Amino acid sequence: MSSLGEIWIIALRLRRFPNTKKTMAKLYFNYSSMNAGKSTVLLQAAYNYEERGMTTRLLTAAIDDRAGEGVIASRIGLKAQADIFCSRTDLHAHIGTIAKQSPLHAVFVDEAQFLTEEQVWQLARVADGLKIPVMCFGLRTDFQGKLFPGSATLLALADSLREIKTICWCGKKATMVARLDSQGNILEEGDQVVIGGEETYVSLCRKHWAARELE
Ligand SMILES: [Zn+2]
Repeated sequence: MSSLGEIWIIALRLRRFPNTKKTMAKLYFNYSSMNAGKSTVLLQAAYNYEERGMTTRLLTAAIDDRAGEGVIASRIGLKAQADIFCSRTDLHAHIGTIAKQSPLHAVFVDEAQFLTEEQVWQLARVADGLKIPVMCFGLRTDFQGKLFPGSATLLALADSLREIKTICWCGKKATMVARLDSQGNILEEGDQVVIGGEETYVSLCRKHWAARELE
């Protein structure tokens, strides 16, 4: 199935989970490799809530300034304003303050791999205590095939896990991410997060990631 077909199916499934006060709110983790359409799914799912007259709040990591501060943008052109979080943001307090002022029906978090372990617990308390569903979207692993801390905690705590799929050049599911330098060479060393660098990322299947084969 094409990546776009996958995106629409996930967006439609997310639509089935409007929360009311009577039901349990859940913590969701939608994970993928790079360029799978995470932000597209997020923005479509948020739109689905708003179309039904429900209020949403979007958050994204301060570390990601690709689209300018406080914007979630997808590669196919959709974008929306978002609150910014950094590692010091108390997300339970932030969302709690907003929810006190007016009803809040769902929270969407992009770049969720950058959440700290403590922040994932804060989001779990938003679902359990404030009864507001929280939909997190993020990368599962970094360019060295290691879990991001936020993703590791979400994999451990989330009520619902869903993979947003994309494909390797060979046609198999791409589960891994490679980091390339400006000349297109695969980088094997470096920090987990690079800010403002010239690196680019490509998603590969495990076999081609391990073999370092880009095509
Ligand atoms: Zn492959």
